[in-house]
Amino acid sequence: MPIDPTAPYDDQNIFARLLRGEIPSTRVYEDEWAVAFHDIAPQSPVHILVIPRGAYVSWDDFSARASDGEIAGFARAIGQVARGAGLVENGYRVLYNIGRDGGQEVAHLHAHIFGGRPLGRMIG
Ligand code: AMP
Repeated sequence: MPIDPTAPYDDQNIFARLLRGEIPSTRVYEDEWAVAFHDIAPQSPVHILVIPRGAYVSWDDFSARASDGEIAGFARAIGQVARGAGLVENGYRVLYNIGRDGGQEVAHLHAHIFGGRPLGRMIG
């Protein structure tokens, strides 16, 4: 079910619980700003999610409210994760789903990193 992007942040959402260690994940990276882990239902050979540690519902919420430090830290983390996964040479895709039309299902901002095969043109 797509989330309501105008709803307040719900600290019981699955990625909030994952951040607190209440549910397991296969973490591949973490720093002061972000945590990255494998998507539970990968759609490409490499499919990693990167989430900020802060409580933001979506890219809209994050880009409006996050500090410059949070935004810079999150952007750098995404690049670091992609480099760490060995994706730079062949390339990769970063995707944010936002709200209903974007098909966002988890109400904590997450960047999808896809790679490991040619990904085709932008929208399937
Ligand atoms: P989105 O549609 O952009 O909100 O994407 C949510 C993503 O979270 C989907 O690709 C799911 O497969 C993934 N996901 C849901 N629960 C988990 C979980 N516990 N661990 C890892 N990935 C998850």
